[in-house]
Amino acid sequence: MFRNFRLVSQVVFGRGCFNQLDDILAAKREDAESFMVFLVDDVFSEHSLRDRVPVKSQDLLLWVNVDDEPKTVYVDELTDQVRVYMKAGSGRLPDGVIGIGGGSALDLAKAVSLMLTNAGSSADYQGWDLIRNPAVYHVSIPTLSGTGAEVSRTTVLTGPEKKLGINSDHTVFDQLVLDPELISGPPADQRFYTGMDCYIHCVESLAGTFLNAFSKSYGEKALDLCKEVFLEGGPESDDKLMMASYFGGMSIAYSQVGVCHALSYGLSFVFGIHHGIGNCIAFDYLEEFYPEGVSEFRHMMEKNGVELPRNVVAGIESDKLDKMIDVALALEPLWENSLGADWKRIMTRDRISELYQRM
Ligand code: NAD
Ligand code: ZN
Repeated sequence: MFRNFRLVSQVVFGRGCFNQLDDILAAKREDAESFMVFLVDDVFSEHSLRDRVPVKSQDLLLWVNVDDEPKTVYVDELTDQVRVYMKAGSGRLPDGVIGIGGGSALDLAKAVSLMLTNAGSSADYQGWDLIRNPAVYHVSIPTLSGTGAEVSRTTVLTGPEKKLGINSDHTVFDQLVLDPELISGPPADQRFYTGMDCYIHCVESLAGTFLNAFSKSYGEKALDLCKEVFLEGGPESDDKLMMASYFGGMSIAYSQVGVCHALSYGLSFVFGIHHGIGNCIAFDYLEEFYPEGVSEFRHMMEKNGVELPRNVVAGIESDKLDKMIDVALALEPLWENSLGADWKRIMTRDRISELYQRM
């Protein structure tokens, strides 16, 4: 059976296209009483972008903090804040939820738009296709590129038990605003880590057993763009990185990520390490799985003057190591993609433990 998946239905791309957001939203505003919810990364609370967000007097703007990657409790809290605002007004759902920020803020926007129309806690929906009702119209405006969260059908959340996305067709954004000018600001190391998330998506997709012409076409182009950005640089780097992220996301939409992502999820769950840097930490030890990719990654790291934290796992308590292995092993499709149907015989707990303890 072939997957019949949903894509973002509208996309605008170009330097300065963020200025069109007001018009795009105007078409979705029902009447004078209805409102939009903006979830904006609080890194912009003192930034000039703040004054460019087209917030009307009836709208709700929530600054979101992403010091920790999105947790289910935080999503539930934000959803409650929107509900309180609804009650104080007409009681109606918002006309839209707009996420502005990196992968974390975008995932929060996706999750809130889903939870406004689906009862219970967001932790109840971590998994595949558990969402019943369509989300509120939701818009993605990336300010950091690499995760592919702007095009994916998941919102990655850390819950009480697991780090796992809410994967569903309803998770996919309705509108994407890709303005390369917005990604010029992140610190260089952050830009690199998140950019490498995209690079690693492509390496894992292209080396995987799930590969097909659809994923290969997007993956190869995204990989080339990453190399241009991180090895050559140049004035169009932000435009290219933004498209690499999009294409990398499209590549894994029809394949899967692999060993690095599985291990990175464990690092993130136990140590709270962010996804991009967690991937970089893990990837550097995965030469036997991705020889070319790892060698090129080291070259890019050197070229960009990036250093990775070392000995992150050293001396870890055994219960934490066990938890990390549990989290990694639960990601079965990732292992199957990397190692084939017989992966359980290859990737034992001992083998994962040994990999982790090198990091
Ligand atoms: P992030 O969103 O966590 O942001 C990292 C840091 O960069 C934060 O401090 C943020 O405030 C800051 N930042 C963002 N934009 C900035 C800008 N323009 N200028 C200055 N600072 C800026 O980082 P990320 O790597 O984009 O996202 C990681 C998150 O994405 C993780 O939670 C991960 O689980 C998730 N993710 C989701 C998917 C998906 O398909 N949904 C895929 C991969 C990763
Ligand atoms: Zn990733």
